[in-house]
Amino acid sequence: MTKTDYYEILQVPKTASPEEIKKAYRKLALKYHPDRNPGDKEAEEKFKEAAEAYEVLSDTEKRQLYDRFGHAGLQQTGFTGFRDFQDIFSSFGDIFEEFFGFGSRGGQRRGPRRGADLRYDLTIGFMDAVFGKETEIEVPRHEVCEECHGTGSSGGAEPGVCQMCNGRGQVTRSQGFFSISTTCPTCQGSGTVITDPCRSCRGLGRFLKKRKLSLKVPAGVETGSRLRLNGEGEPGEPGAAPGDLYVVIHQAPHEVFRRQDDDVIVGLPISYSVAVLGGEVEIPTLEGQDKMEVPAGTQSGQDFRISGRGIPHLRGRGRGDLIVVVYIETPKKVDKQVEDLLRQLAELEGAKVTPGKRSFFARRGK
Ligand SMILES: [Zn+2]
Ligand SMILES: [Zn+2]
Repeated sequence: MTKTDYYEILQVPKTASPEEIKKAYRKLALKYHPDRNPGDKEAEEKFKEAAEAYEVLSDTEKRQLYDRFGHAGLQQTGFTGFRDFQDIFSSFGDIFEEFFGFGSRGGQRRGPRRGADLRYDLTIGFMDAVFGKETEIEVPRHEVCEECHGTGSSGGAEPGVCQMCNGRGQVTRSQGFFSISTTCPTCQGSGTVITDPCRSCRGLGRFLKKRKLSLKVPAGVETGSRLRLNGEGEPGEPGAAPGDLYVVIHQAPHEVFRRQDDDVIVGLPISYSVAVLGGEVEIPTLEGQDKMEVPAGTQSGQDFRISGRGIPHLRGRGRGDLIVVVYIETPKKVDKQVEDLLRQLAELEGAKVTPGKRSFFARRGK
């Protein structure tokens, strides 16, 4: 699927400043807001498109990636855009407040906050990263207390109004000519206090629990790849969406294969005679083994590229290459027959190579 350029969507130049981007987004968000266009599918699409463009271009890191690599650059970060309106509003709660001026109830208070994103580091075997794997992970994360429905108040009763700030969440102190407002120290800005804490969670409203999740690791991931699990992060405040879980992959090294992007490098020892005369050799591949033809006169360190036998590309089809680097292995011990043959060879070489040798030492002496 081809995607429209984010700058085009917001109708701003590539050099647009963060303020210009925000302004452009505000215009579109107001125009296509679902409350103003009920049931209008096209407006809905435009609204989502604009939110996605704004999400990327308002974030320095994402914008840089997008400028350099386009949409593909963002996919690497696990960025997938938005699922629905809920997702957009929970991500941009603050900015919508600013745009539309709602959420001003209770002074400085904001709507329920979306849950925090979580990170989980997963080390997987070399081959599991190459071919993909279904696995289970145990992620410690907070869960809403069922006893009090996350309120922290015994029996789920409504918490009381904070006496310190009268529910404003802020306290104002006068200091000479100035009055200074600060977050209420008693309720931490929530405006409410729990008078009878839930016994089950001791008033916290949540528990730390280990949760089993099944995870499908796609073929071709590598160290640093991030997989996003929507909604598997920390729970949000009552009424808000949970955060996401990011699984960060660490690919274990392999005894035989070395990874270079989506290519795989393998060292292959061959005998002197095969190097000189050529011949068929067995090579290890990611699937098992195969045969390869070594041409006559092969040098130590020479590499052979077998196309399409490397690691599957994580995005898109096809695979990298298998690169076989041959080196001539010197035997530590040989039997009598081989030794005799080598002595004959050495004699022959001695006779034939001498002139070359002489010139080599002659050059070296200069
Ligand atoms: Zn208070
Ligand atoms: Zn509780």
